[in-house]
Amino acid sequence: MVQVEKIRQEFPALGQQVYGKALVYLDNAATSQRPRSVVQKWTEMTEKYNANLHRAVHHLADVATAEYESTRDAVRSWLHAAQREEIVFTSGTTAGINLVAFSFGEAFVRAGDEILVSEAEHHSNIVPWQMLCARKGATLKVLPVDENGKLRIDLLPSLLTDRTRICCVTQISNVLGLINPVEEIVKICHSAGCLVLVDGAQGAVHKPVDVCRMDCDFYVFSGHKLYAAPGTGVLYGKRELLERMPPYMGGGEMIETVRWSGTSYAALPQKFEAGTQNMAGVPTLRPALEMAERLRNPEILAGQEAVKSFMLSELRQDSRIRLYGVPDKAEEKIPLFSFSVEHVHHEDLALILDKMGIAVRSGQMCAEPLMDRYGVTGMLRASFAPYNTLEEAEYLMESLKKAIKMLS
Ligand code: PMP
Repeated sequence: MVQVEKIRQEFPALGQQVYGKALVYLDNAATSQRPRSVVQKWTEMTEKYNANLHRAVHHLADVATAEYESTRDAVRSWLHAAQREEIVFTSGTTAGINLVAFSFGEAFVRAGDEILVSEAEHHSNIVPWQMLCARKGATLKVLPVDENGKLRIDLLPSLLTDRTRICCVTQISNVLGLINPVEEIVKICHSAGCLVLVDGAQGAVHKPVDVCRMDCDFYVFSGHKLYAAPGTGVLYGKRELLERMPPYMGGGEMIETVRWSGTSYAALPQKFEAGTQNMAGVPTLRPALEMAERLRNPEILAGQEAVKSFMLSELRQDSRIRLYGVPDKAEEKIPLFSFSVEHVHHEDLALILDKMGIAVRSGQMCAEPLMDRYGVTGMLRASFAPYNTLEEAEYLMESLKKAIKMLS
């Protein structure tokens, strides 16, 4: 049996039927399916080791704490971060960005400063910065994309001034699927004295991440897009910055001592982990990262390349279809395809595809400014995970053509 078929059998959801058809799950950019190893860890932590972390001396609390903290070590190593204190557990990408926007904003952003985001950001990497700018009297600036969806890196130096505090950019857009040159962005920003936050919600799944080599100041991702439990996520931050940032939330576990005269805070990373944490969910990141590694084997990667070139050639050769996020070379894109079809509404297509067993996303994909950029109210998106196959891509295109015919 080929590798991908073996691995698919470890994902119970992928084997099911919907409306009497084999499920073809192509909404992985929204959330990925979970392997049995993740569900087992989640169940084990819920059934056997349900205890609050770091607090009690009893056995269950010991096991729960050991699982949680060893997951921090696993994440540190997976991201190639230098120190475990740089890994903060969050409830997801949105929570990580809000933490930085608030806490970094408190410490480092003043009236008249500037924050830079790209035009291809998810609302999670726009709205927290708009809120920060409103609080502080700072200005939000935007790095545009070109017609094909490529970031206009050529404009970056001219957008950076000595007031630009942080540039917040996605590693891979959830709409365009193009891989942004984040290392180059970091170099340009750092040379202008501007820090960089990288939104890795899509990147962490599709690319090996080395935060030291990338040299970003912050990196965030969500567990649920990477085979783990929902409500899990990671914020990586350079230690010297996290040390200088105030806590985001106050409460239990993030303190050293509490007196009426004042409170001192716990050391990193606890300073940023107030209250009861997701003690059943976080340990699922370990089997999830192991799965992500297994899905990076050469045979599966070659399968992904085949899916990509098939999809690119099919979508480009149909004159009724407009593809967003057009790469110069296939390696600049992940297998994520957003497109619109002339005179056909994206939601009608998604509904018909659903009845054919295919799960795709339609709408604005939490990126309204990008929809405005292209003058559309929404798009249709097929986002493949490494466990998807060429046969599924072929079935999608065959079904899409039938659906277009029905609606034209
Ligand atoms: N950024 C990007 C690029 C995303 O794709 C998403 C999820 N669609 C998010 C941020 C937000 O992630 P979450 O909802 O898991 O916090």
